[in-house]
Amino acid sequence: MAPSLYELPPNASVGIDGDTHVFPVNRVFCVGRNYAEHAAEMGNTVDRKAPFYFTKSPQSVIHGHPKIKYPTGTQNYHHEVEFVVFIGKTGHNITADAAMDHVFGYACGLDMTRRDLQAIAKEKRRPWDLAKDVEQSAVIGTITSKGNFGDIGPQKIELSVNDKPVQSAYLLDMIHSVPDIICDLSKYYTLKAGDVIMTGTPAGVGPVVIGDKMDARIEGLSNLVVTVEA
Ligand code: MN
Repeated sequence: MAPSLYELPPNASVGIDGDTHVFPVNRVFCVGRNYAEHAAEMGNTVDRKAPFYFTKSPQSVIHGHPKIKYPTGTQNYHHEVEFVVFIGKTGHNITADAAMDHVFGYACGLDMTRRDLQAIAKEKRRPWDLAKDVEQSAVIGTITSKGNFGDIGPQKIELSVNDKPVQSAYLLDMIHSVPDIICDLSKYYTLKAGDVIMTGTPAGVGPVVIGDKMDARIEGLSNLVVTVEA
């Protein structure tokens, strides 16, 4: 018998440090080119006037698993360590001054990317979905509440692969700040409690292969360790 609609798996939820509740994921927005050195390494120029976005479906989120699958359809699956923002209060046309009122908390994340398919999409002027909206590609660590994290800025964001450092920057290196991103994104969407924003990756992206262990760290947040499996 075919499963009924009600038997489909629920969207991902993300654990919260020190809380028995979970954060149910609504949508996943991602910011492109938000660190100058990463834009440069990809051969792109930075648009300082406004961020741009792509999305991952909520079904791409994986949380609380020590392993992620190497996806089909790529020979060049890249890591991108990112600071992830969780929206806790609905709003539309949110001002930058009010933006932080809409933030619930933060986590470490990985925006895993089929880089070969992204390059083809760019070349052919096609959308990025096959490159970015990949099952198990929005890897998200445990949430720390906004109040327990403090001001965004001086914290280091880092990724090591097999204990070798590959990405390293500071959150204040972001071109578009978290309040500016929320302000801009909310011009186009009614941001809802449950929405997730991945805020872009610093320089040093590169491929992983089966067996690689990624260790993502942002000062003040739970670290995120996952191994790539076949
Ligand atoms: Mn990214």
